[in-house]
Amino acid sequence: VKEKGRNGVCFFDTTMLVQVESRFTLEKELRRALERQEFRLYLQPQVDINERIVGAEVLLRWQHPSLGLVPPCAFIPLAEDTGLIISIGEWVLQQACFFLADFQAKNPDFHLSVNISPRQLSQAEFVSNLKQIINITAVQANSLTLEITERLIIQDVDYVSSVMSKLQDLGINLSLDDFGTGYSSLAYLKRLPLNEIKIDKNFVQDIGNYSNHAPLIEAILAVARHFNLTVVAEGVETIEQANFLKKRGCHFYQGYLYGKPQPLETFKI
Ligand code: C2E
Ligand code: CA
Ligand code: CA
Ligand code: CA
Repeated sequence: VKEKGRNGVCFFDTTMLVQVESRFTLEKELRRALERQEFRLYLQPQVDINERIVGAEVLLRWQHPSLGLVPPCAFIPLAEDTGLIISIGEWVLQQACFFLADFQAKNPDFHLSVNISPRQLSQAEFVSNLKQIINITAVQANSLTLEITERLIIQDVDYVSSVMSKLQDLGINLSLDDFGTGYSSLAYLKRLPLNEIKIDKNFVQDIGNYSNHAPLIEAILAVARHFNLTVVAEGVETIEQANFLKKRGCHFYQGYLYGKPQPLETFKI
């Protein structure tokens, strides 16, 4: 069953979750999942133009006791609506930083990207909590990138932008995720302090399938150059897509061509 929600198509039968359980019990289950440590971090490699692994994106999964591995599209929207994303997101950041601190000991240049919901950023304690996590784990802040989606409309751009500046002052890198899919990408570029944009996989996957794909991607890369931003392409599946992007100066690449998300425990480079 496919569900077309605000994340696009979700390939998980969420009706299984929703049929038996009301939204209310699903919310309770999500809460319990956090207490019972049922969430798992998966890592997907990011490579440079020489195809060397330089980092990874953290992608959340829910190891449900009876349903198996539940993808984020089946529970992140509810977590965002209910505000649970705040505690889930903090747990993700903690786990990611503990992992990164350890992994950095052997791979000093390795970096980690973590997805952050705008709801987390709007929270007054976000910066001080993250600062504390960084201190406790002794992770290098400049090895950490926070990916911010514009899937949720950013309510108070001025406030969020001041929070983002504080994060940059700590050394953290900021990335605008799913670039080009929202209505306000270009406006955000001017108003938010950013280091990076991620070209959404929908654009990348047009390469080779759609004869008129080039102008859009070229425009995105030109805009990024203008704002002095690093560009990461997500969803790179074919050599043709990679070559197209390499020829046009895209900096980093992520997708099944280089590796699928894998459990953090077994991640190797
Ligand atoms: P995203 O941030 O845009 O992440 C990229 C998604 O594309 C991931 O889906 C990844 O597995 C998938 N992907 C990567 N390479 C390829 C490829 O070559 N082909 C195809 N078809 N897909 C590829 P995933 O893991 O299901 O995550 C979905 C979304 O859930 C993420 O989209 C992100 O918005 C959200 N998400 C995941 N983890 C977290 C989290 O810890 N916190 C928050 N707030 N959101 C999260
Ligand atoms: Ca992301
Ligand atoms: Ca993305
Ligand atoms: Ca995306």
